[in-house]
Amino acid sequence: MPGNWPRQLERRLRGRYVFSAAGPPIPGGVVTFRGRRIVAVGDDRGAAGLEDLGNVALLPGLVNAHTHLEFSDLDRPLGQAGIRLDEWIRLLMDRRRSRANCHPEGTRRGLEECIRTGTTTLGEIAQPAWPVDAFEAATIQAVVFLELIAARAESVAPALALAEDHRQVRPSNRWLPGLGPHAPYTVRLELLDRVVALSAARRIPLAFHLAESREELELLATGTGPMADFLRGLETWDPGVAARATRPLDYLRRLAAADRVLVVHGNYLDGEEIAFLAQNQARMTVVYCPRTHAFFGHDHYPLSPMLAAGVPVCLGTDSRASSPDLSILAEMRAVSRKHPAVDPRIVLELATLCGAKALGLEREMGSLEQGKCADLAAVALPDWDSPDPYELLLDSELPVVTTWHNGEQVFPRPESR
Ligand SMILES: [Zn+2]
Repeated sequence: MPGNWPRQLERRLRGRYVFSAAGPPIPGGVVTFRGRRIVAVGDDRGAAGLEDLGNVALLPGLVNAHTHLEFSDLDRPLGQAGIRLDEWIRLLMDRRRSRANCHPEGTRRGLEECIRTGTTTLGEIAQPAWPVDAFEAATIQAVVFLELIAARAESVAPALALAEDHRQVRPSNRWLPGLGPHAPYTVRLELLDRVVALSAARRIPLAFHLAESREELELLATGTGPMADFLRGLETWDPGVAARATRPLDYLRRLAAADRVLVVHGNYLDGEEIAFLAQNQARMTVVYCPRTHAFFGHDHYPLSPMLAAGVPVCLGTDSRASSPDLSILAEMRAVSRKHPAVDPRIVLELATLCGAKALGLEREMGSLEQGKCADLAAVALPDWDSPDPYELLLDSELPVVTTWHNGEQVFPRPESR
């Protein structure tokens, strides 16, 4: 392929299988796009001008709904597998203190890694000093959730001012604003309620870490335990951040008034909370981070009960501080191994269409369908055959070999070939 492919020329890519996330796998399928839009997805009708990519699967560009890219320069997660969340947060805070608050080089490396591993849409949690230019320059669609923290009453007004500023920054096409109140133990209820109202009034998505650890639940219920002990040692913390005798359901009820909510982790949501999420499925999605969940050694993830109840679920990697890398394909394979009862068609949807819906981008992204953005990932397939094409994709360690975003090949860069 020439490096300077004319943008308006029609391209027709054929793979061994096309997995559109909008229908069954298509053997020998062809995706046709013109400029940045898909114009057709279907069989090879034998017309001229095909680019046969050989033994690959063509997928919609993957959606990583939860990252903290500032830590993407880490070679391995912080601490040992099975570390308690409060001990890990201590390591994370040490790491942050040891360098500039928001490490632009880490973010840039993270964006590159996402693109290299087939991700075309991203939900990023960013610090107030986040490197806007890195997102402006990256060939990926991002929703940037500004992290908001206020455990003390006097921190609420400054956090709200940050939230107002963030949504007023005129975003480029590359990124859209989101609000990221951090977690029950770092966000006072008065801030949470104001941010939820802002989300509803301005139609901005919101991301909130919830029910991540047993220690968080203990803190909410009794105000005691290892998480409470750790937080009490912090100058910026205040035990008044959360009322006693609360639980994740109390937070879900408040969050349900937002325009759109990503409930991050939800590792310890109970049956009543899952039922509440199902009732509010139009605006609430749970983000499952499978390998981060495994790193902390949490109890078995309630994926099947959530799916059975009708809760929308999507996938995230979380950061390299708790995940070995930023590959959503690897997360799909982890889901497939840990939850063999989940239909592989659903596993693909979690990594594509469900993430796009969670971020409010499903009209443009998340599946290979006529009219949507030409965001694609080509994944190498093994040489063996299987009656179930999903096995070729998921029972394999073969990588993403090419990524396209808006009809443009973004990995590998054509000029770097
Ligand atoms: Zn997170």
